[in-house]
Amino acid sequence: MWIYLVKRTLLAAIIVVIAVTLLYIMILAVPGDPLSVLLGPRSTPEMRDTLRTQMELDKPFYYQIGHYLLNVLQGDLGMDVFSNRPVSTIVFEQLSHTIILILPALAVGLGWVGYLLPTIPGDIPNLVNLPLGCTFSNRCARAFSKCRTMPPRRFEVTPAHFASCHLVTEGGAS
Ligand code: SF4
Repeated sequence: MWIYLVKRTLLAAIIVVIAVTLLYIMILAVPGDPLSVLLGPRSTPEMRDTLRTQMELDKPFYYQIGHYLLNVLQGDLGMDVFSNRPVSTIVFEQLSHTIILILPALAVGLGWVGYLLPTIPGDIPNLVNLPLGCTFSNRCARAFSKCRTMPPRRFEVTPAHFASCHLVTEGGAS
């Protein structure tokens, strides 16, 4: 289990590095100057140059990406250019929603659901050609001869709780 977790974490880290690098390359490849977008159409070349220096966009590509990845490792994801707030703060604000989505996926992915809902042994009934008696008889550990020939009646055991089993009689389990 731990080896699996370490492998998955390393794989996730490699994927993040590749994704961040590709994203960075794509942003650089887009025509136009992102600083003009940030500063607006009335910005002067001097203003853009000042911001370029402040954001270290005048440095070589490898320096920019290395610097960014180092910051990410320290939990600094940079500033959101629209709200001017730290990206990590924005991410943490939304983390509870992400965790709610991730936990069920993890439960399925790591097989936890298998512990909670173990598979019932036995054959699944043929839905086209259902067995004569109880449709669960192929999988039921308590099946007896009557189960294979006669379908059980449906009883309301307790209010809104129904059961179809020869072992259950009206008013409760026998
Ligand atoms: S009728 Fe009840 S005991 Fe018989 S096979 Fe079905 S579930 Fe099992």
